[in-house]
Amino acid sequence: MKCPLCGEKTRVRDCREFRDSFKRYRECLVCLTRFVTYEKVDFETLWEVEK
Ligand SMILES: [Zn+2]
Repeated sequence: MKCPLCGEKTRVRDCREFRDSFKRYRECLVCLTRFVTYEKVDFETLWEVEK
């Protein structure tokens, strides 16, 4: 999964089930922006920047 801001790699800090998908807490290795993604197998990933 690439960072939507700079396109570099992200790492997963935490992952937990969220309704019918997975909620993953991610952090970009380069710009250090933190995101939350909601990932479904057959649905596009939603990105949300942590405030
Ligand atoms: Zn980045």
